[in-house]
Amino acid sequence: MEAEYVYARTGNPTRAALERAVAALEEGRHGLAFGSGMAAITTLILSLLKQGDHVLAVHDLYGGTRRLFDRIMCNFGVSFTYALGSDPENFKDALKPQTRMVWVETPTNPLLQIIDISKAAKMAHDYDALLVVDNTFASPYLQEPLKLGADIVVHSTTKYLGGHSDLVGGAVVISDDALYEKVRFAQNAAGGVPGPLDCWLVLRGIKTLAVRMDRHCSNAQKVAEYLSTHPKIDRVLYPGLASHPQHLLAKQQMSAFGGMISFYLKGGFQTCRNMLKHVKIFTLAESLGGVESLIEHPSSMTHASIPKEQRESVGVTDSLVRVSVGIEDVEDLVSDLSQALEHV
Ligand SMILES: *Cc1c(COP(=O)(O)O)cnc(C)c1O
Repeated sequence: MEAEYVYARTGNPTRAALERAVAALEEGRHGLAFGSGMAAITTLILSLLKQGDHVLAVHDLYGGTRRLFDRIMCNFGVSFTYALGSDPENFKDALKPQTRMVWVETPTNPLLQIIDISKAAKMAHDYDALLVVDNTFASPYLQEPLKLGADIVVHSTTKYLGGHSDLVGGAVVISDDALYEKVRFAQNAAGGVPGPLDCWLVLRGIKTLAVRMDRHCSNAQKVAEYLSTHPKIDRVLYPGLASHPQHLLAKQQMSAFGGMISFYLKGGFQTCRNMLKHVKIFTLAESLGGVESLIEHPSSMTHASIPKEQRESVGVTDSLVRVSVGIEDVEDLVSDLSQALEHV
């Protein structure tokens, strides 16, 4: 393909191998690798939008994406609106003639809402806007947004694709040639590229993606079922539970329900703190998608940069706890949560 590698920002063989791999996983034509998920997202906004354009995004976005949109990209004359609810029908009203992009995460973070990708694509296309899906939470093993009508898929490869919490990276997959050329130009011009070693680490992670995801999903299902019967827990958010409001939609557009669970403890910040202080196998940490189980408190950690009222109005309250279920023995995970809940 690339006849020669002239300069490593423009292209290098290991990055090209990763770019082909992520494109193949998402069943898209073109892949692009970046130095982080945020570099991928930054490059998409810079290359595809201009002053006056509007982006409609779901409200419970990854905190860093929202920070980038509201504190940096808005300074360049691009405006952002956040749609409440998970049904694209409900955010039709927020579309404007200037809307050029609809930005969706599904499952969302940290509330694990499911957005109907086909519906969102149709709605975006009716307005001549592009549908971007951040597929980090599902991974291409569980969900392929391009097949459902999305124009662009973005990943933080730091999470499930890398899978071992030992790298930071991002990726974009696009099938349309002209769109790809624009983003590829910006990838080189802006330079948010990964080094070859990080690309190699993601490639190595991808080799075990299928077996890791199978285990993440089966472990998470069991943990979610356990938590949903616990008397100290108010509500468990996991798309694999029949009680999840979009369980059927999740079943349709995903092949399984992923490794992320959120739940509301009965009590507030101090209650959560007591639980988080006593876990032994789960590590208190912000990331997700690695083989080791992690636990965190969104309102004081991953989503702390969002103003309190804004956060609470959408359900990210002080009672909310998020777990990234790893691939350890599930009985060990359940008993760890069980003993930590005794301290609540
Ligand atoms: C982590 C994450 C990002 C940002 O990726 P980095 O690799 O940390 O820059 C974007 N979107 C989602 C859904 C994420 O979980």
